Amino acid sequence: MVRDSDNELPALGRMRTDGDYSHGAGGDGLSVLDEYRGYVFDGGPNGLTNCHKRLSFSRKELLVEVSEQENMSNDVGSGGIVNPEAFNAYSLTNIMGQVANFYCHSTQGMGIDLYWCRDALHMPEIEYAYTNGVVRTNAYRYVGEMIHRGVTNICLIAGGYIYIDRILQKQSRDKHDLIYGVRSEYEPYFRLNRNPLLKLFVKVILTSRKPQIIKGIENIPYFVDLQHIGLANAYFYARHTDILNQGAIIQLVDLSEENYFEANGENYTAASFLDVVSFSLAHEVSHLIGLRHENAGTISLLGSKRPIVDITVTCDELLQVNLKERASVSK
Ligand SMILES: [Zn+2]
Repeated sequence: MVRDSDNELPALGRMRTDGDYSHGAGGDGLSVLDEYRGYVFDGGPNGLTNCHKRLSFSRKELLVEVSEQENMSNDVGSGGIVNPEAFNAYSLTNIMGQVANFYCHSTQGMGIDLYWCRDALHMPEIEYAYTNGVVRTNAYRYVGEMIHRGVTNICLIAGGYIYIDRILQKQSRDKHDLIYGVRSEYEPYFRLNRNPLLKLFVKVILTSRKPQIIKGIENIPYFVDLQHIGLANAYFYARHTDILNQGAIIQLVDLSEENYFEANGENYTAASFLDVVSFSLAHEVSHLIGLRHENAGTISLLGSKRPIVDITVTCDELLQVNLKERASVSK
């Protein structure tokens, strides 16, 4: 039998030692040439850091390019809900190491060796001119007062303020559409951060805050829209058919404040923040290689939000893995 150039087996028996699980498809989308040549990675499984590594013809590998915004801790801002203690615990090497060790874990993982490279994030500078003449650029770097104004998506006209103004959200989307021909604030991030040497890597963006800003009224200053959903996303579906617009994105400083909404004002600790970041990364990257939310188990990568050390990827989830058809790579 002639061996094709991408024939890693679908069975996971050798990598997941706890059963005879299988991926939906064989191969990992990397040619023999790419695997033999290898890459200089910033990290990988089992504490691998900063070295050249040839890849295996018999193991499935997933390559991840992480574009990380510089100096994110400068964007924490001020106010009662900011959480610098949690955010300052963040370290890309730590987080990616946890995710890589989870993906290759012999009894709980994905049956995949994950390697990653870091790039600096190039951010689009888009100016938002609101109807009262105020102009802001780079909303994701807003460092003013951060305000939590109660339940999201509610207009409290009688109370004298509007909590979320969808017209302003639409304005920022229209601006992105005008400049980049995209329908989401995030798509330019993927589009502008393509490294031609890393075409086979799935794309992850880590930034401080969402790129949209919400206008305050009366004596309330402009403030960044704080929501408890949508701080970690994967773009892989029909609306983003252009591969250049696909990838996963997490807003880390926003995320450090997330628990304010879910636990009656109690912010994440440093440790619980790291747990939620590593979970979010493992979860969103899994969407880029085929996993979807249907039929998620309760203690699974799709169905739970808990430290990844406590998660076992289920048989149903493993069956969805298809590295050959992974999103966001420009083959
Ligand atoms: Zn998801």
